[in-house]
Formats: sequence, structure tokens, C-alpha cells
Amino acid sequence: MTKIIGLTGGIGSGKTTVANEFAAHGIPVYITDLEAKKLMQTDSVLSQIRAEFGDDVFENGLLNRGKLSEIVFNDSGSLTKLNNIVHPAVKQDFKQWLLEHKKDPYIIYESAILFESGSYKECDFIINVVAPLEIRIKRVIDRDKTTREKVLERIKNQWNNEEKSSKSDFIIENTTKEALNLGIVKILKFLRIKQMNS
Ligand code: ATP
Repeated sequence: MTKIIGLTGGIGSGKTTVANEFAAHGIPVYITDLEAKKLMQTDSVLSQIRAEFGDDVFENGLLNRGKLSEIVFNDSGSLTKLNNIVHPAVKQDFKQWLLEHKKDPYIIYESAILFESGSYKECDFIINVVAPLEIRIKRVIDRDKTTREKVLERIKNQWNNEEKSSKSDFIIENTTKEALNLGIVKILKFLRIKQMNS
């Protein structure tokens, strides 16, 4: 059976960069954030959002993502409601995707909230990507043109790294590109050995 490798890490740690490296080595990768964004354009999810949040979050028939983000960012009850719509849709979509990859020995499931959402329980192995806080803040400011305060606000809502690492099988120290590659090579070696022995 296909083994699920959960890939997570705090904001700016480099999860997506790591996921892309694995994809380049031929391992199929499911990026939950990306798929959730796509699913939020489907009729089924849109109609649930309209039923929950009303016409106010729509403009000319299209979802106004900015408005919706503003609502859920400022109210945890609304965030839970949105998550209750989006998370089951992602779960279902992933199930289908997994079926399409049943011939692959391993796949990567990348999620910023792997632990927070409980999906880590479905994984066979877990990789946590880590990097020093200041490096992460700088990366996100450069990438998103945002402020230090906003980045810290997002970090505050995530589990801390010690909690994540203690529940992970591998830790990739993504301080430099070299360190990142070394971490990936080690994991690929481990997976090959595992595959030979299975
Ligand atoms: P988020 O949780 O916000 O989605 P993430 O953990 O997926 O973040 P990435 O988007 O992969 O992080 O990386 C954040 C930024 O840092 C990106 O612009 C990426 O190109 C850059 N980056 C990642 N790893 C390195 C590295 N080793 N050296 C230099 N830049 C890096």
C-alpha cells in the first residue's frame, strides 16, 4: 500500500521548497494549501460558503476572498465554520488523489497544519522542516512583502517546533540550500532501503 509521508513545518520554514525537491525526485506531492484554493472555486464548496456566510462575501457572483479572509481572520468562530467546509473537501479530494497514485510506493502530503488538524495520524512517516525564527521571518517578509508583526501573528497560532519535532520521524534543517539538500538525500536513501526490504 502507498505510504503517506506527512510534510510540515512552521511558516517560512521551507515546506513547499522541500515538497518541490521531492517532486523533482519523482515522488508525487499533494500540497493541501494549493488544493484547498482550487476546491474553493468548486460549486459544491462555494454553495456551502454562501449558505454559511451569505451573499456579502460574493461580488458579481464571484467569491471575494479578501472579504472572507478578513472575516475569518478576526473571528475564530467564523474560521472554524470555514474550516468545517474546506477541510472535509480537502480530505475527500486527497482520498481520490491517493487512489490515483496507488501504484506509487510513497507520496508526500504537505500541510502547514498537519498536527493542528490531526491529519498526522493518517501518515506513515512525518517530516518536520525547521529553520531559525529570524530566517523564517525574513523569508516570509521577502516572499509576501508583509510585515514582521503579521508574520509573528501567524506563527503564534501554530504549534511550536519542539512539539512538532517530537512527533516527527525526520527533521530537515533548512538553514541553507546545502543543508536542505542533505536532509532530502538522507530521507530518499532511507525510503529506498525501506522499499528494498518490503
Ligand atoms: P508557508 O508556510 O508560508 O507556506 P513554507 O514553509 O512553505 O511557507 P516556502 O514557501 O517553501 O516556505 O519558503 C519560504 C521562502 O523562503 C520562499 O520564498 C523560498 O524560496 C525561500 N527559501 C526556502 N528555503 C530556502 C533556502 N534554503 N535558502 C534560501 N531561501 C529559501
